[in-house]
Amino acid sequence: MKWTQWLEEQKTVATILINSLEQSRLGHAYLFTGQKGTGKREVARHLARSFFCRNKNGIEPCGTCRDCRRIDSGNHPDVVVIRPDGRSIKKQQIADLIKAFSYRGVESERKFFIVEQVDLMTAQAANSLLKFMEEPDGQTVCVLITENVHAVLETIVSRCQVLTFKPLPPEKMKRRLIGEGVAPAMAATVTALTADYEEAKALAGDEWFAKARSVVINYMEELFAQPQRAMMTMYEQCATHFTDSNRLHIGLDLMLIWFRDVLSLQTGRPEAVVFTDRLERLNAIADMIFMERTASGLAAVLAAKRRLNANGHPLSVLEQLALRLEEGAVSHV
Ligand SMILES: [Zn+2]
Repeated sequence: MKWTQWLEEQKTVATILINSLEQSRLGHAYLFTGQKGTGKREVARHLARSFFCRNKNGIEPCGTCRDCRRIDSGNHPDVVVIRPDGRSIKKQQIADLIKAFSYRGVESERKFFIVEQVDLMTAQAANSLLKFMEEPDGQTVCVLITENVHAVLETIVSRCQVLTFKPLPPEKMKRRLIGEGVAPAMAATVTALTADYEEAKALAGDEWFAKARSVVINYMEELFAQPQRAMMTMYEQCATHFTDSNRLHIGLDLMLIWFRDVLSLQTGRPEAVVFTDRLERLNAIADMIFMERTASGLAAVLAAKRRLNANGHPLSVLEQLALRLEEGAVSHV
């Protein structure tokens, strides 16, 4: 992605970096914070390209010169990336980095290093890094990356310019997932459940989740089409699939989406529907039941979530919910 695109994705961060690049006044140390999947690593790499590319168009790196290509393949001698070795970033890794940098000067005077998951640095590693960062070397840029800024040592944070990456807006996240081959209805579903792009992508590719989605849709549709069979479906499909609290929470979240979809149709907002692959059935049910019934269905699912949070047993939470939903379904059809 180019800087102009990053400007759309991460306005604040991109504006600051673009201005610094344009004025050739890049800082020495940045701390990129923000959730997974917000582009921290990509921006760090792009910044490195802009820093080294000798064939830039304005501040935009060419992407094809030797420097750009070596950064892309991870082989640039003056761009070093450090990641946790096991569960932490160890002192030796920082020592190796300092050593590697001290040997150079042949390629260029410039150096760029990136430390991922910097919150996992040991105290000794952090001290070595701090010393290194304090050396009056005007041509070094370091980018530290973390999802958990509160776990980064204050001494490190205070020496960095902190740039916070915002979560992707849902519409963009959905489009990006679709761009990566996720079916539109599935992309909409996971986007409704999480703001974390990586988590959304993992859910979209998860077999258990795909089954959960179809189990819930099937149960809800049956609840209104053939309420006399719904209880059996609940035992046979829901209870066997949503076997623990975490799983049932996901099941209940999917039920919430289903009721909200019905409500969206009843209030004339078809564009808000998440389960777009079931639009026909959703429309039929939206026409068939009163809006009060949809609202009480939503309330019943929310109450079930509360019971589950209060340590309710998953099966009994599900049974109670099924009874409430069935009552409503029968009395209003
Ligand atoms: Zn280039």
